[in-house]
Amino acid sequence: MLWGFKSPLAHYSYCVSRSTQIKTQYSIRTTQYEIMAQITFLGTAASIPSKARDNTSFVFTNKKESFLVDCPGSTPYKLLNVNIDFRKIKNIIITHHHPDHIYGITSLIHAQAFRSNEPITILSSTPSIKIIKKLTELFHLNRNQFPRIKFIDVYKTPVFFKNQDTQIQAIPNKHTVQSFGIKFSFGKKALLYSSDTCFSLEMLEKASPFDYLIHDCTASSSYFKKYPAIKSMHTHSRQLARYLHKHSDLKLIPVHFLTVEKNEEKRIRKELSICKKQVVWVKDGQRIQL
Ligand SMILES: [Zn+2]
Ligand SMILES: [Zn+2]
Repeated sequence: MLWGFKSPLAHYSYCVSRSTQIKTQYSIRTTQYEIMAQITFLGTAASIPSKARDNTSFVFTNKKESFLVDCPGSTPYKLLNVNIDFRKIKNIIITHHHPDHIYGITSLIHAQAFRSNEPITILSSTPSIKIIKKLTELFHLNRNQFPRIKFIDVYKTPVFFKNQDTQIQAIPNKHTVQSFGIKFSFGKKALLYSSDTCFSLEMLEKASPFDYLIHDCTASSSYFKKYPAIKSMHTHSRQLARYLHKHSDLKLIPVHFLTVEKNEEKRIRKELSICKKQVVWVKDGQRIQL
């Protein structure tokens, strides 16, 4: 039983890129309907995608507000395939400026040409904002037909977004200069997204308490042994299993899988199997209710 629902299928719907199946989905029209907190995964892979998984990004929605978190390639297309109108995406959080988290942003802005006068708000850190500004200049996206971009530095205030339903904070992680995880608080619940990070108790304690954890799970411990250079940047599945073991109320959604080696996803799943009741495996295009 997952998250209070009678079966795993009852609590999330799986959207795949087939229009016939999409017809069975409800549509996210953030301006018309209120939607309870949910996450729609657009991608779940690390920097190198696989056939089944593209670079990690997702949409967090609560009531009338939606936030796109990170923006790799083909984001408008992926949003269409999960029945989210990409022209209505107006809040974008960029956790850091590695290409797999940022490179699609110019294409998303470009795809929003002539849509309305409403600006896009990009919430990020100073180094990433600098890069986004350069990219938009390079592609001439400051012309009139494209939405105006408003930048918000997430580190300027302890809470970078707040309305009556949702509060969002940047939690520094251990990955690159000013990179950050994101804590979403909604109702009596909270979710932490670690973004890319090596395992950091400091970050997890700073963000506590939270009910759901979407965490970097780049590879298995054996992969990390083979390629120790990634230790300072990412987390392996055994580290997450140990953490879950001590936090039995927590639900983990592992993401950012690097599965270039054969059977790597199997090794990751095996290491997390000791806490299998706490782990929710998601596919690209999948939507979960929180
Ligand atoms: Zn990444
Ligand atoms: Zn990264």
